[in-house]
Amino acid sequence: MTPVAHITLKPGKEQSLYRKHPWVFSGAIAKMDNIAKSGDVVEVEDSKGNFLGAGHFSEGSITVRIFSFTPDYTSENFWKNKIAEAYEVRRTLGFIGNNETSIYRLVHAEGDGLPGLIIDIYGKTAVIQTHSAGMHMMRHELADALKYVYGNEITAIYDKSAEKLSKNSTTESVNSYLFGEKLDTEALEHNCKFLIDWEEGQKTGFFIDQRENRHLLGELSKGKKVLNTFCYTGGFSVYALKGGATLVHSLDSSQKALDLTEDNIRINGFENSNHKVIKADAVEYMKNLEEDYDIIVLDPPAFAKHLSARHKAVQGYKRINEAAISQIKPGGIIFTFSCSQAVDKTLFTNTVIAAAISAGRNIRILHQLHQPADHPINIYHPEGEYLKGLVVMVN
Ligand code: SAH
Repeated sequence: MTPVAHITLKPGKEQSLYRKHPWVFSGAIAKMDNIAKSGDVVEVEDSKGNFLGAGHFSEGSITVRIFSFTPDYTSENFWKNKIAEAYEVRRTLGFIGNNETSIYRLVHAEGDGLPGLIIDIYGKTAVIQTHSAGMHMMRHELADALKYVYGNEITAIYDKSAEKLSKNSTTESVNSYLFGEKLDTEALEHNCKFLIDWEEGQKTGFFIDQRENRHLLGELSKGKKVLNTFCYTGGFSVYALKGGATLVHSLDSSQKALDLTEDNIRINGFENSNHKVIKADAVEYMKNLEEDYDIIVLDPPAFAKHLSARHKAVQGYKRINEAAISQIKPGGIIFTFSCSQAVDKTLFTNTVIAAAISAGRNIRILHQLHQPADHPINIYHPEGEYLKGLVVMVN
């Protein structure tokens, strides 16, 4: 890789890069020695000409996403080393060669020092999702790096960037296999089986980030009646049934999600159990609960993708939580989540507390939940902390 341009920052605008925050905003740039276009590799320097980092140029307000704070990025093995480093972290976490869990995140963007890149592993398939033009242009190098690190442990690599790229840049992309083809779509999470639809599903096909929170639900579900709202692939439902729930209702507004849920319930052997899918709007359904659920799961989609939508998002979270808190029986438990980056932990907790006060119920916080270790948070990029949850008991 050779840089297309050198970008010099304005004096005083280098601080965040000295602290290794990986984004350069357009307002920080003093000059560029050449014209760069979206996707190009550029070097960033401080006002005295010292190397600060190398990254991908983009025409948006985040002008550069730094992928290396050292000049060694020109080395031939750079991407292989980066993927190998992420792989070693997952080995330390126990994901490599694990007989119970074959679903995990290998690369979590800034959390793994690779802004704009997500790589999820589903058994022997890797799904790459690039969020920037520059990372997308690296996709073949990334596929080679994956093959190098995994050997024959990976038999297919799918690039699923089209939707993300059309949102974040003008880059055209068609989802396709960079290597191999679609074979086995069944993968494991804590010994629960899931069929993953990386071609058509949301994100890379599965909400991997809820793994440990689903596991916790399983542990609390014995003998309980569970309502899983916003169920998507039915992840929480499978764990609840496995944990011994006497009844599980999976609710989603999308029929496609409910079909996926039913498939996952079936392959785990709970087809004839007390499981039912409900096609409804979550808030409407909870306005008047007929079943006396012991546990309700609230895992809505991100309501606020940007700060500007934060106020509306908070109102949305309050409405959902208030509906569940006011309806659940005394002693009932609610698993409530937010994956909106713009709503931080404190704001989310306060929103749930406000919902309880409006509902006239008392809640106590039993667990404070978050994203799992394969979604690491870069301390210089605290924006990477996005998933938060609470387990509350309602009286
Ligand atoms: N809990 C899931 C992930 C949820 S994704 C898991 O563990 O995998 C969010 C889901 O909410 C999507 O499936 C979407 O179809 C559904 N959804 C969005 N708005 C909804 C609404 N108003 N009522 C019910 N479901 C809704």
